[in-house]
Amino acid sequence: MKKLALVVHGGAWAIPETAAEACREGCRRALERGWALLGQGGSALDACEQAIIELENDPIFDAGLGSHLNRDGRVQLDAILMDGRTLKAGAVAAVERVRNPVHVARLVLDRSEHIMLVGEGAEQFAVEAGVSLCNVSELVIAREVELWYKLKNEGPTAPGRRRPSAGTVGAVACDAQGNLAAGTSTGGTACKYPGRVGDSSLIGCGCYADNRAGAVSATGYGEAIMKVVLAKSASDLLAAGLAPQVAAERALAVLRERAQGTGGLILVDPQGRVGATFTTPHMAHAFRTSDSAEAVVRL
Ligand code: ASP
Repeated sequence: MKKLALVVHGGAWAIPETAAEACREGCRRALERGWALLGQGGSALDACEQAIIELENDPIFDAGLGSHLNRDGRVQLDAILMDGRTLKAGAVAAVERVRNPVHVARLVLDRSEHIMLVGEGAEQFAVEAGVSLCNVSELVIAREVELWYKLKNEGPTAPGRRRPSAGTVGAVACDAQGNLAAGTSTGGTACKYPGRVGDSSLIGCGCYADNRAGAVSATGYGEAIMKVVLAKSASDLLAAGLAPQVAAERALAVLRERAQGTGGLILVDPQGRVGATFTTPHMAHAFRTSDSAEAVVRL
């Protein structure tokens, strides 16, 4: 039996003191939900999906319920899951009526010949796969409406200036068979242009998994992350033999140098070694491996 490992994150940003405990608690719960599966012989894919569903359902994070609103005051969600054994991924982007986009991403992974579906087509696929759509207002919370009014009155963002964004979520895992998986889910950046898709749901940018290299989930400013294909870059460093923590630090250094971006990464390699690092003030994250009886939860 291989070493088990699960890492989850709740986004790389400046977490205010008032949100710190809720972020920690959210990560702890997500880790527990994923670990309950992994510990009983469940697959890395199932563990990542279930951990991310827990994070999407928690309004403290910018994924699923409580996501940032776009410029038109609507929630548009992006998510991906990737299987390191087959390199198949399932992704959805710009969906508006889906409570758990990572679950639809899983259905795309399992049942579709395609890797990514967007907008109405993704919602149509979800319905055909048996998922009931929600009302758009069900994903909106008061905190985000307040933020939206504030940002809207500030006017358009100067090109290259980052809109605040908080709490994208992700998970990476290694199961008893030695299979790796990764997933990422987000509401994207606050007041983003309608139809904007960031890095999170793009294979190789916000997420990558390859049994021969490692599994990676990224968070940070999507327009910078996409430029350096961050998750695949980190995975290539793992394939070259770097330890996960070192690979993450090197990949984030490239993000800073080449794209002037900040962010965070969680990783696991085929030996079940984990890494988590960030160049933002905080990144809510939690991890556990079968080497230890306890989870580690950090900001
Ligand atoms: N990467 C996400 C996006 O650009 C945001 C984040 O991770 O904070 O959509």
